Amino acid sequence: MIRQALIIEEGPGVSFQNKLIPKGALPIDGLPLVERSVRNLFAAGVEEIFVLAETGTDWYGKLTETYTGLRLISNEQCKLHGDTLVIFSNVLYEAAALTFLINETQRDVQIISKIGEFSGICRLSAETIACASQLTEGNAAIGKQIAALAKAIEKTVLRKSNILQWYKINNEEQRNEAERFLFSTIQEADELRKVRREVLLNPGPATTSDSVKYAQLCADICPREQEFGDVMEWICGELSLMAGKPGRVETVLFGGSGTAADEVMISSCVPDDGKLLIIDNGAYGERFAKIASVYKLNFEVLKSSGFAPLDCDAIKAKLVDGRFSHLAVVYHETTTGLLNPAPELCRFCHERGITTIVDAVSAFAAIPIDMDHDGFDFMASTSNKNIQGMAGVGFVFCRKEALEKTAAYPMRNYYLNLWDQYTHFKKTKQTRFTPPVQTLYALRQAIIEAKLEGIENRYARYASCWDELVKVVKKTGLRMLVPEEIQSKLITAIIEPSSPKYSFDEFHDLARSKGFTIYPGKISDADTFRIANIGDIRPEEMTAFANILEDYMRSIGVAL
Ligand code: PLP
Repeated sequence: MIRQALIIEEGPGVSFQNKLIPKGALPIDGLPLVERSVRNLFAAGVEEIFVLAETGTDWYGKLTETYTGLRLISNEQCKLHGDTLVIFSNVLYEAAALTFLINETQRDVQIISKIGEFSGICRLSAETIACASQLTEGNAAIGKQIAALAKAIEKTVLRKSNILQWYKINNEEQRNEAERFLFSTIQEADELRKVRREVLLNPGPATTSDSVKYAQLCADICPREQEFGDVMEWICGELSLMAGKPGRVETVLFGGSGTAADEVMISSCVPDDGKLLIIDNGAYGERFAKIASVYKLNFEVLKSSGFAPLDCDAIKAKLVDGRFSHLAVVYHETTTGLLNPAPELCRFCHERGITTIVDAVSAFAAIPIDMDHDGFDFMASTSNKNIQGMAGVGFVFCRKEALEKTAAYPMRNYYLNLWDQYTHFKKTKQTRFTPPVQTLYALRQAIIEAKLEGIENRYARYASCWDELVKVVKKTGLRMLVPEEIQSKLITAIIEPSSPKYSFDEFHDLARSKGFTIYPGKISDADTFRIANIGDIRPEEMTAFANILEDYMRSIGVAL
């Protein structure tokens, strides 16, 4: 596994349209050369990219603002700690070149053409980079560092490729040539790696990027290896940072679905003398109650409508009057798309020492969450919803103090015990039982991509998709089950038209034939179908689906 990359911007730059710019800033089809490289590297699973730039530090500095994980090394030695992909900024290349190097068994290797031309695309071991660094003194000029690295690259194993395409660009004329003659071939080579697109508008598993799908295709590894422990530790650390301030949250991973994570919380986070209030305003609140009954906990259920706001005052009064020690609530009820005021309720609980358990399975990684600020003690989510990974990993986020208390709670089950799983991982960097290895690699890639996008931007993209859907729902005269102001904008329950010509199955099959998967409703007291807008989907795709919806409704005489 290669977790970091180094981009080298060598020399004084190039003249382009009478301006001196860094080579990496040369545009190809409107995108700076190096930016294409940055995207390729992140898509190949690199977590951090360092730039060693002899020129254009201002330009590169701006680029680092656009890409989380991209850093400029300014006048200090390369502090790279693992094997590294090293790419010169002026190379236009097809993305498969990176896969080629990642799969290499040699650790110091460069790609060359059949006639022996150096490509500027290489892999260096940590030891080689450390050696090259030692060749330069403490605060050596960037030029010297680049020269030392170039010397190290000269000594690497040469891997000839007759197929891979690349082009090194050193002036405007070469840029023009590359754009005219080579770019379309490189684009086609990249296109050939694409997986057929299916847009999932069901409420998870959500649509994933190709890079997340590809992350599962990696060398076999025994999950007891330190290397895999490091990957899981990184995943836990990054997920924790998405749920709270540094050092405040611990994330515990389980092989299992979202329900497994919910069951972990209910079974592990309430002591024998605890009393739990469960809010049920949809299928997932109801599931919390079923789990609590299986474990014979002391609990009560407060039922509320699936499409009306919760009565917070009534809940607060019940919590106090009933002397409850714990509250369990679903943040986003995926059943209907209703967003519950979980932060308001949980903050109230915190002021009174009541422990809070939150199902954020379909809220996390879309709705920004800070567990301290929101008053969440325990929170569940899963790898296949808004984080945009594959199904198979459930995670429980824990505020540290709340987690410590569970050490003394009874162990009511084995596989799903939170404290046991947490302490074992802390001690060994291993899960107690076989983890879903490839799903975790996909989750790692999904996290890299979530960081690049940012949770707030992700929610804004989801909301734009929702806007596209709602425009057409209103235009066709359909009605939504939940009032707009309390909707999550992540999933929409739409009331089925009363026309006898309407058939969910027909509508589903029509949408599916055009690459969109939709989902039936899930509540007994209203006939609905549901459209989710989470996952790796784009507003223009939602517009395309909305047109299908409109056409179908017209075809059965429903649309206005
Ligand atoms: N909780 C919520 C809010 C959900 O939306 C879901 C699934 O959609 C679950 C729990 C259960 O997750 P899973 O089906 O992965 O067990």
